[in-house]
Amino acid sequence: MHADNLIARASTAFAGQQPRRINECNCPECHDFSRLLAGREPDDIPSAELGDGIILLGPATLAYFVPGIVRFCLSNDPDEGDICNTFVFSILAQPISKRSSPECHPKLGELTVAQTSVILEILQHVTRSWYNDGEELPREISRATANWSWFLERARICDRP
Ligand SMILES: [Zn+2]
Repeated sequence: MHADNLIARASTAFAGQQPRRINECNCPECHDFSRLLAGREPDDIPSAELGDGIILLGPATLAYFVPGIVRFCLSNDPDEGDICNTFVFSILAQPISKRSSPECHPKLGELTVAQTSVILEILQHVTRSWYNDGEELPREISRATANWSWFLERARICDRP
């Protein structure tokens, strides 16, 4: 899959309005992140300031920023690797038992076929570029790939528009 193509498809699949707040939490930290991200385009993620704060983003805000996260995952700049790393290991690889419904995913549980296929391709890209052929994969990566392959099957069956 060509990189530009994946970014373009992510932008189309995840096009939408940015929610006013990152989540429903009223703590000062979440308010600060809401202010930090307010009015930003998906590819304008302030990675240094946001850092691990990406795990606090509620489902709608996270979905809004997926096209920007894809850019980080396609970039080989190690300084920019953190956002993708957190996205893959802490969000995509959430421990969910095999063959659960996609709705069991706490952050990205109700994606369309096109959105789910973008997520699976991010994972496949990361696996190819971070690990050598035949190298044993971290169990988080194996779990995420198994879950998202299954979620794609389910999304196709449900055929959510
Ligand atoms: Zn909070």
